[in-house]
Amino acid sequence: MLIRLTYLSRATRDMSLQDIQDILTIARDNNQNSNICGMLCYDQRYFLQTLEGEREDVNELFLDIADDPRHDAVVIVGYEYIDATTFGAWDMGFAPASEQFYALLNDVGQNTFDPRELSQEQAVRFLSNLSKQ
Ligand code: FAD
Repeated sequence: MLIRLTYLSRATRDMSLQDIQDILTIARDNNQNSNICGMLCYDQRYFLQTLEGEREDVNELFLDIADDPRHDAVVIVGYEYIDATTFGAWDMGFAPASEQFYALLNDVGQNTFDPRELSQEQAVRFLSNLSKQ
């Protein structure tokens, strides 16, 4: 049974590019082994991430991620059953804040990245559009 879990969280400190790279290196390795795909973005100290895969695998990974001391205030934005993955091309895509990032953010009604104000539909649409850049 395939699911998509989307959550937001707040970094416990400012993340450098190297910090993000460290997360992506382990994420890409682990996710490939568990057939999990998704997309991560980071700005204004907020993370927004979606994870897609088999329900047990995604649930287990999410519990590990939620425990990670690099972030806190973890909030599940959406949890849904899906027929097929949207982020299949990415074991974990990442989009840094950029002109394009802000253009896509405008499409979901924001000028400043604040995932706490996004609905599940908006969050997934934003991440999906980012993954196609
Ligand atoms: P270890 O790497 O040995 O980790 C042991 C413990 O230390 C864990 O609690 C881990 O969270 C913590 N830890 C590891 N590195 C650091 C560090 N540099 N600073 C502080 N604490 C650290 N992992 C994935 O596999 N897939 C993902 O998609 C994914 N997405 C993530 C998104 C975010 C926003 C964050 C913050 C982390 C993400 N991670 C992801 C990393 C994940 O939380 C675990 O670090 C990773 O799964 C490896 O954990 P481990 O227990 O197997 O091994």
